[in-house]
Amino acid sequence: MQLENAVKVRKLELNTVLRRLKDIASLLNEPGELYGYLDRLRENYSELNVLINLFPFEPEFKNDGLCLFGHFDELEERISGKKGSFAEVVNQFKATISGNGRAALKIGITRYNFFCLEDIVKFCLNLKGIEEDMHLPSFNVFPVGMIIKNFIGYANEIKKKINGLGIELVLCDDELVEILQVVQFHAQRGKISDKELVRLLGVIAEHAFIGPQTIVFDPYHRCNIKCKHCFVHNPKIHHPQEFLDRKFDYNIFKGIIDDATELKVDGIILQGDGEPLLYDKFFDMLRYARSKDIGVSFFTNGSLIGENKAREIVDLGIREIYCSFPAGIPKIYELVTTSGNQEIFHTIVKNLKRLMQIKRESNKRDPRLTMTHVIHTLNHHELIDMAKTDVEIGADAARFYLIRLDDNNKHLKLSDRELEVIKRDLPIAARVFRENNIDFVDNIKFQLEHYDNNTGAWSKDIFLKEGCTIGWYFCLIPALYDVSMCCHLRTVGWLNRQSFKELWNSREYRRYRIQAKFLRDNKDFTFPNGVKLYDEHCEHCDNHQTLITNLENLRKLGLYKFVKQ
Ligand code: SF4
Ligand code: SF4
Repeated sequence: MQLENAVKVRKLELNTVLRRLKDIASLLNEPGELYGYLDRLRENYSELNVLINLFPFEPEFKNDGLCLFGHFDELEERISGKKGSFAEVVNQFKATISGNGRAALKIGITRYNFFCLEDIVKFCLNLKGIEEDMHLPSFNVFPVGMIIKNFIGYANEIKKKINGLGIELVLCDDELVEILQVVQFHAQRGKISDKELVRLLGVIAEHAFIGPQTIVFDPYHRCNIKCKHCFVHNPKIHHPQEFLDRKFDYNIFKGIIDDATELKVDGIILQGDGEPLLYDKFFDMLRYARSKDIGVSFFTNGSLIGENKAREIVDLGIREIYCSFPAGIPKIYELVTTSGNQEIFHTIVKNLKRLMQIKRESNKRDPRLTMTHVIHTLNHHELIDMAKTDVEIGADAARFYLIRLDDNNKHLKLSDRELEVIKRDLPIAARVFRENNIDFVDNIKFQLEHYDNNTGAWSKDIFLKEGCTIGWYFCLIPALYDVSMCCHLRTVGWLNRQSFKELWNSREYRRYRIQAKFLRDNKDFTFPNGVKLYDEHCEHCDNHQTLITNLENLRKLGLYKFVKQ
């Protein structure tokens, strides 16, 4: 048995050496980085050795007998793969203790629980009737470039504290060491941020180590333009007065921002189910979020950004403005909008030009102005004119976005012939952007490549196959304070019942995230607001750019194989 275990440990070590050789191979074309890596390797050569020998290694570890993986049922059963295993092991343990108070309990460590050993230990101590006042440490994922060292310190301290108490920690995931090493390697390399790495690690470990990358707020529900394609304000929709009067409570917003700061959220987007600049608290929201150093972006139609507002936007250091601008010439603007007219087209161009000018005069890099052009039957021939107008404005970036169809705007669906016109004009528009240093956000290419001419869908099978990782990256908070996991109102909880931080870290939210990660298996799972996990919106997913980027990053960094399906 001892020999068998020794062989397994050698295998683990060999895998680790192979992984390091792979790291070295990947750096061969970058000698500067290679030398840095080899230096670090020399300094830290004992680190992996310590980690590997920290616990007995039992890859065939099962949670039969007195072994468990988690301090609550879903975690335990996720790792054991056995429904009901939590109750089973707890009952068995209790029965054993009543006969033999000194019975020992083993905790199996895997990628899904290595960061919450203190909670599992506390649970075990409780089962054993030992009062826990030993101040067990918490795992610190930052700095990610020292994640192995952090884990060693954390696990060692726990080991010391439970010494002699009849609880043993056993490593039973032969990839955990490799996962930590890959993550540490990329953190030290510095080409991807610590926060991004931690979210990718979160997808693998099925744990939210930090808050989402982006929180989107819907602060206000009226719009002064009313585009015909808008899924909130097109003329076919008649909202009740209560919806139109709904505004995001400023104090609730402040509470969320405080939590977001603590959770290391990267940025917020004030999007509106309308034009946010119409809301009298809008600039207070911008100011508060910026005072907490959170990145702030917002959507606007551009019609209300006058001189003073433009100056304050630049002074506040707003990160990005997405301007919804569905036309390249005034006549089409009038056609595509209900309340907009040719005069407003000129006002918007003038406002944005001035905003960009103020930014330049202030020598500021932000805000980045991204022009967003929703494309449908009324403006499908406008791509080149849109690009030229973006150049005139001096925008930083631009994107075309095929219309997201629903019952109220399906009459704007693109015909095959119109799609051909788009494909014909797209390279010309892209060249206009390129020649004028405008960053072309090329998501329309993805939409066109996957476009279903019958339904207008573009993301049907991709996320069914790959799963949806949005639960680690994003959430939407409308003015009813019902937090949604993605753009399509899949409600995970309400902020009048708990704080954002409590909700984000709750077991319910964890469950929703994991269900979406395995989208294909959980299509019929229903959220508390009655919406199914998989519905027609997944077929034209507004979060597809985030999901695709996550997949690309997992692959690029060599982490994809650790995301167990
Ligand atoms: S400007 Fe934006 S919110 Fe207003 S109608 Fe158009 S798409 Fe909708
Ligand atoms: S629409 Fe579907 S695929 Fe897209 S983020 Fe939401 S749940 Fe995921």
